[in-house]
Amino acid sequence: MSDKILYEGKSKIVYQGPDSESYIIRYKDTATAFNGEKKEDLSGKGKLNAAISNLIFEYLMKNGIETHLIKVIDDTSVLVKKTEIIMVEVIVRNVAAGSFSKKYGIAEGTALKNTVVEFSLKSDELGDPMINESQITAIGIAAADELSLLTKLALRTNELLSALFIKTGIKLIDFKLEFGRCDAPGGGKRIILCDEISPDSCRFWDAATNKKLDKDVFRRDLGDVLEGYREVLGRLQNA
Ligand code: UDP
Repeated sequence: MSDKILYEGKSKIVYQGPDSESYIIRYKDTATAFNGEKKEDLSGKGKLNAAISNLIFEYLMKNGIETHLIKVIDDTSVLVKKTEIIMVEVIVRNVAAGSFSKKYGIAEGTALKNTVVEFSLKSDELGDPMINESQITAIGIAAADELSLLTKLALRTNELLSALFIKTGIKLIDFKLEFGRCDAPGGGKRIILCDEISPDSCRFWDAATNKKLDKDVFRRDLGDVLEGYREVLGRLQNA
């Protein structure tokens, strides 16, 4: 593996890949919350998130969603297509929880009458503030046609993930997606799904008990964090 670190984030390290069109991403064991204020090493988290995210990305790719995943290298590393990350987080919500519940005074667990898609500016410095579509186009983070594609891809991903998770007895409450631009074969740019989909970036509740199987267990000190992650992986492997 090339050991040239291009970027080290809170939960992953990005290395230069074997060629100029790829990166290697390695999942770390570090768990962080509240913009890095709460931080802990949870031995085995990297492996669990890599396994869960790889399984989900492979499922999405089989179902027509293009992603950056080229191949799995080992337990914690993947080879991915190099992209230029679009600096917004796309959040999809099926059930009220987290910041949505807090901001709008809606009890956690309240079903939403329609799926919510919202955007946050990807900026640790500014604490990932929520941003709307006209603000995104105004400051040039993405063009209007790109934003409608992000929304369409996020909603399609939600349909596919909801169908997958229903088979596992897990409720998909909400999740966060990131996208990147890469060169299209015939010139121009195309947009593909990047980053990860794991219990770090989704809310997963057990369908029978509403037990949290995601990073809220870490954020809120609710017990053994990785127990839920192991449960999610086990159920996905048996789905
Ligand atoms: N999320 C994430 N990274 C972020 C912010 C949110 O992965 O920087 C995920 C979070 O795990 C949840 C969903 O996006 O599944 C919605 O998060 P929310 O806006 O409720 O924020 P939070 O309550 O996590 O601060």
